[in-house]
Amino acid sequence: MTFRELNLTRVLLKNVENQGYTQPTPIQEKTIPLALEGKDVLGCAQTGTGKTAAFALPILQRLMPPPRRGGKRPIRALILTPTRELAQQIYECFLDYGFGTGLEAEVIYGGVKQEPQVMRLKDGVDILIATPGRLNDLIGQGYIDLGRLSIFVLDEADRMLDMGFIHDVKKVITHLPSERQTLFFSATMPKDVEQLAMSILKDPETVKVDPPASTVDSIRQSLYMVDKANKKHLLADILARPEVESALVFVRTKHGCDKVVRDLGKKGIEACGIHGDKSQAARQTALNRFKGGQVKVLVATDIAARGIDISPTSRRPMCTASGARAGRAWTGMPSASAA
Ligand code: AMP
Repeated sequence: MTFRELNLTRVLLKNVENQGYTQPTPIQEKTIPLALEGKDVLGCAQTGTGKTAAFALPILQRLMPPPRRGGKRPIRALILTPTRELAQQIYECFLDYGFGTGLEAEVIYGGVKQEPQVMRLKDGVDILIATPGRLNDLIGQGYIDLGRLSIFVLDEADRMLDMGFIHDVKKVITHLPSERQTLFFSATMPKDVEQLAMSILKDPETVKVDPPASTVDSIRQSLYMVDKANKKHLLADILARPEVESALVFVRTKHGCDKVVRDLGKKGIEACGIHGDKSQAARQTALNRFKGGQVKVLVATDIAARGIDISPTSRRPMCTASGARAGRAWTGMPSASAA
């Protein structure tokens, strides 16, 4: 499928091309036609799947052409997202995807002074990207009116709830017209997220795509069911195998990370650990020693390990992860056919 087949207008096709996108991602392929038709969408997709363009492109198309000059522009689309980083990122995407459309977007979030944001909203904008707290503040002070909104996007709903924003989100919703299109995105669908979705969507179409980081075929995965007490013995046993040149071990907690390093050391397997309580210098040293082959095993908490980039030509690590629940451990290792 091509973007042209999605019936996007010329200006949007050009912007997409300028981004270097040659074809729509699965979430875009599924969401854009529904959103263009004005349907409510329940999208199960994470950041990294191309979901921003999946909602931004149809929003831009539906809001075109922009209103004539003169008078304050009413906010017609709102994108509510949990963090300021995401809000800024989405705003920049709207600038790229909306270039030359004449539509105006703005972003507001907490942690910075509100005056510059209020100033930028003075003449009105077509599209507002916001985090819930700051949005409610500015609504409360009379700077923002959502009474003429036609499209509402709730982004990263599960994270929003995890971060304790449920009341803020519900409060925002009370300010929206009931006649509107709603696009709801969440990486996961636990019960509370589903309930929220059902309370704000009308007859939605569900769209689901695989997370971007789903494992590739060249990774062989194994799951070991093991008693908690035996996990450390099994791990040491696996890592001592001669075919294991290097290994990355993921653990859930910082304390667990230190413990695994100690336990492996007692069994004669040298390991180093990285987690959030270690200084940047200590983390970098550990990483360099691992990458350079001076130490065979790197133990890391999931968060600390994000963004670790290990050249596939220098080392081919095996990964193991201790499951969140006691008694579970899985390993993923490059299969014999891996390059
Ligand atoms: P998102 O999930 O919206 O954060 O997008 C993740 C990354 O995919 C961003 O760097 C986008 O620029 C990029 N992206 C979005 N759509 C496409 C596409 N159709 N083709 C290639 N890259 C894309």
